[in-house]
Amino acid sequence: MRTKLIAGNWKMNLTSGEAGPLAKTIADAVGSDGPDVLLCPSFTLIPAVRDAVDGTKVQVGAQNIFWEPKGAYTGEVSAEMLIDAGCSHVIIGHSERRQYFGETDASVQRKTMTALKVDLIPIICVGETLDEREEGRTEAIIDKQISGALTGIEADDMLRVVIAYEPVWAIGTGRTATPDTAQEVHKQIRTWLKNKYGKDVAEQVRILYGGSMKAANAADLLGQPDIDGGLVGGASLKADEFKAIIDAAR
Ligand code: PEP
Repeated sequence: MRTKLIAGNWKMNLTSGEAGPLAKTIADAVGSDGPDVLLCPSFTLIPAVRDAVDGTKVQVGAQNIFWEPKGAYTGEVSAEMLIDAGCSHVIIGHSERRQYFGETDASVQRKTMTALKVDLIPIICVGETLDEREEGRTEAIIDKQISGALTGIEADDMLRVVIAYEPVWAIGTGRTATPDTAQEVHKQIRTWLKNKYGKDVAEQVRILYGGSMKAANAADLLGQPDIDGGLVGGASLKADEFKAIIDAAR
């Protein structure tokens, strides 16, 4: 039985004066039961969020990581730094990073290996663009991204990996994949995992859906057999909406 995970990707939003109170409101609303809950703020906001959720079931994650442990890499943040700041998870290969910052399947793989080495849980994002879907290439694109990201990852480590299926055409657009469309791709990912790692591992890996998830569509999406939670952007910045998504996962 996979415990659901609802992760908020705050992207490049909020100041510490706003982030701390929002995190606290969410943590107070979540209580101690229900799905796992994660907040992923910008690097500078991690301490404020960590302090606000201290002692609650809400965990803190980062939105990116670099693979080198230290050195002359201006602007980058290492795995050890994320652990030191209080992170348990890190989002890797979000489509916005692939689109605007040149991330590739190879860099996603390197970052995933780096996170696993220090026990940070990687949330690996994959997803097709609208053109790719319309050309009937969704399955091939997802296969390529998954196999690229997971090259060299052994079965034991795979149990600690989370995958997020985020169709690019649904991110921040208000256009959501239908539950059936999302389930089809989630099932495809689980079958891929089964072929590579075996049934036991495949059945334990959590596969999140991301792309305009909100209170109004969360229950239908989260009710699908292979959808194990959500990676939520815009709606995670609104306490009421995010709480409703968490409640839908209960
Ligand atoms: C995301 O950023 O991962 C995301 C899914 O965004 P949104 O929910 O706003 O579409």
